[in-house]
Amino acid sequence: MSTVTFTPIGGGAEIGANCYQFNLDGCRLLLDCGIHPKKEGREGLPEFSLLREAPDAVVVSHGHIDHCGAVPSLMKEFPSTVCYATKPTVQIMDRMLHNSVSVMGTLAVERGIRDYPLYTHGDVDFVIRRTYGVNFEHEFAPVWESPIRISFHHAGHVLGSASILLRNEQHTLFYTGDICATNQELMGGLTPLNHNASVDTLVIESTRAANDPAEVVGFEQETYRFADEVTAVLKRGGTVLVPCFALGRSQEMLNIIARLQSDGLIPDVPVYASGLGRAIYEIYGKFAQYLRPDATLSPLRQFQRIGDVWERSVTRDLLKRPGIIVATSGMMVESTPSAMIALEMVREKRHGIFFVGYLDPDSLGYKLLHAKTGDDVTFEWGSPPVKVRLENLRRFNFSAHAARNDLVGLIDHIKPKNVVFMHGDPEAIEWMHSNCHGAFRKFSPAIGETVVLET
Ligand SMILES: [Zn+2]
Ligand SMILES: [Zn+2]
Repeated sequence: MSTVTFTPIGGGAEIGANCYQFNLDGCRLLLDCGIHPKKEGREGLPEFSLLREAPDAVVVSHGHIDHCGAVPSLMKEFPSTVCYATKPTVQIMDRMLHNSVSVMGTLAVERGIRDYPLYTHGDVDFVIRRTYGVNFEHEFAPVWESPIRISFHHAGHVLGSASILLRNEQHTLFYTGDICATNQELMGGLTPLNHNASVDTLVIESTRAANDPAEVVGFEQETYRFADEVTAVLKRGGTVLVPCFALGRSQEMLNIIARLQSDGLIPDVPVYASGLGRAIYEIYGKFAQYLRPDATLSPLRQFQRIGDVWERSVTRDLLKRPGIIVATSGMMVESTPSAMIALEMVREKRHGIFFVGYLDPDSLGYKLLHAKTGDDVTFEWGSPPVKVRLENLRRFNFSAHAARNDLVGLIDHIKPKNVVFMHGDPEAIEWMHSNCHGAFRKFSPAIGETVVLET
């Protein structure tokens, strides 16, 4: 028997640079390797100094940057490490990581962040060459002749997203990654784990644990509220901007809009989609077999291109006639397409800006949502603020994360000996600690704190 340990290298009891080391049978595995969404430069990376030796492999749960954005930095330091992900995730990582290089390059120039870019397009190509795409539910060994078996299980969060099961004779660990238990427009809810071996350790995300389910409205109900609000703006001759994350929320919202249009619930105006969201949409098309069986994925050609929004005249032309624009970034980071379009929109009353995902209190999106008419808001780095005249600022709840009763249900279903809570604000982690009861040990280790799961 060898000691089985689990150590957060990043993330842990916060939504940060998710990266967890799991040592089993002398094999050093990393689960995810992301970049902190709120920290800049090298500060945003996991604490690689905690890794005394090169990890044998890094296993990536899905393509969001807080889960895979630091893989190129890891492989620069440890070129012998290999990477595993599901087949759609490998293609999504390729797009997301190359986009990160471009974004970091822009930030280096516009904001003088010296560390950027943390890696180059060449480093990303190296990662993709060393990343193996694996089918769901297929067991593989991380290194040659290893007794450890790994498999990916449908997590219901975004295309390609997987929970990861790792096992050998001695210990079985199930890492949920980001999960959603209920159906979205395109993604079906997670597939419950069906296996014979019992799970010793469950590592579970806690994103929405602090949200009271009584206050969470249903998906269909929220869709109809969205339809009513969109219709009201369009009828006034305005345009609706829906800021969205490039992976997941963009493809989901575009298809909700297409369905509402074909059902006659919102007017048939042009719908626009921005660059990275379109690139990921193509991957959704290639792997449509992983979407909900009864989901209809509209052809990408149905959505028009936005064009170069950094050119003011392009955005002004776009806003001349009523339309719906789905653009990144979801939290409206300054100088991104959604911010550049909003910069023109807020000057007029008739438009609407509808947020549909998580907004960090420090983000421009959050500030704009809570702005009053006449407030000054800055949309572009290094440019003067703009006076907000637009009144129609709304927020909708289309989460891709499991509600807390589903998280509790998952623990009851799996019946583990150890539960590790991760990926949540302190309030959420605290709720899980106080409200999840059973015959298991509970942990929420900080970065660098090692939990001994078995000796
Ligand atoms: Zn995610
Ligand atoms: Zn995440």
